[in-house]
Amino acid sequence: MSPFKELRLVGGEPWVPDPVAWRPAGGRPWRLAPVPLGFRPGDLVGRPPGVWRYHEGLPFADPVSVAARCGLGEGGTPLVDLGDGVTGKLELASPTLSFKDRGAAVLVAAAAALGVERIVCDSSGNAGTAIAAYAARAGIPAVVFVPAATSPAKLVQARAHGAEVRAVPGDRAAAGRAAEAEVERTGAFYASHVWNPLFLEGTKTYAYEIWQQRGFAVPGAVVMPVGNGTLFLGAVKGFLELRAAGLVDRLPSFVAVQAAACAPLWQTVGGTGGAAAGPTIAEGIAIAAPPRLDEMASVVRELDVRVEVVDDDETERAQRDLARRGLFVEPTAAVPYAAARRIRSELPDDCVVPLSGAGLKTAVAPPP
Ligand SMILES: *Cc1c(COP(=O)(O)O)cnc(C)c1O
Repeated sequence: MSPFKELRLVGGEPWVPDPVAWRPAGGRPWRLAPVPLGFRPGDLVGRPPGVWRYHEGLPFADPVSVAARCGLGEGGTPLVDLGDGVTGKLELASPTLSFKDRGAAVLVAAAAALGVERIVCDSSGNAGTAIAAYAARAGIPAVVFVPAATSPAKLVQARAHGAEVRAVPGDRAAAGRAAEAEVERTGAFYASHVWNPLFLEGTKTYAYEIWQQRGFAVPGAVVMPVGNGTLFLGAVKGFLELRAAGLVDRLPSFVAVQAAACAPLWQTVGGTGGAAAGPTIAEGIAIAAPPRLDEMASVVRELDVRVEVVDDDETERAQRDLARRGLFVEPTAAVPYAAARRIRSELPDDCVVPLSGAGLKTAVAPPP
């Protein structure tokens, strides 16, 4: 029996997770169609919080035993009032201190179900760390490729989980090419949070949780950071699934936020100013050429998503402001909050922003 539920691509073609294939012939990442959810509010309340609470929406045939073997208590992050109608969702309270745990838990559990013997991934830091942790939990050796300039604390963390960390000279794309070459050479499983659509099947639980935490209702606005778009695309998919299941009758207003210095989505959808590729303190979203760029642009157009950019000064100020309220986040994680504060008066009431990664990740204190 397959360890997976029946999955379909957008367009209806069946899609089966595979230990080797990671890129479709067309060259763009696979995009999974919404899945029928099969849970009702009453089913959820008695279950422990976290990603696996929503197992009817997850891709596994037997998710409960998968969770017991591969889970680390991911998801179930609290909401905290940040004032002025803005609520933070504390993704930094994840086992590896970023939201990437949601996707990594599901993707590595799939790798374990496929019986793979070695995992390769590439990352600007947090995804690799999360993959390393869940690979450790599943007992699968992992190799993580990162750009040489990645914050050292993220590498310490990935190494602590037993992963082999390879720092690649050059930018984020160079680390990606090195990982692809290693996959090609060794036949290892490519646990790419960008390419493998199962990662988004984990991050979509971000939407289910907000819905449940808001009393089974959607908030006015959901503001998200966008680099490769794994939280953005996953969360949008989650809200679309809730609507398709008749569990909500509307979507929240979505806001996608990029760093002004590296804003390819902003530029693709007609934003002016900013740059497509450049250095920024928001290292977690410094992605010049995201493979899912076209997909994100079509989501922006179809759902009328507002796209914003935030410069490094605003990010630094937002990071400091959050720290002074007791919440120390890495610079990347201050980006959506910075945007939400700036455009607050133009957004509907009740605006949820993720605090997507912990401040100690970058080991750089906000300026005094
Ligand atoms: C990865 C990451 C992001 C951005 O996620 P994308 O999938 O690249 O859009 C934001 N914040 C933190 C802390 C991250 O680790």
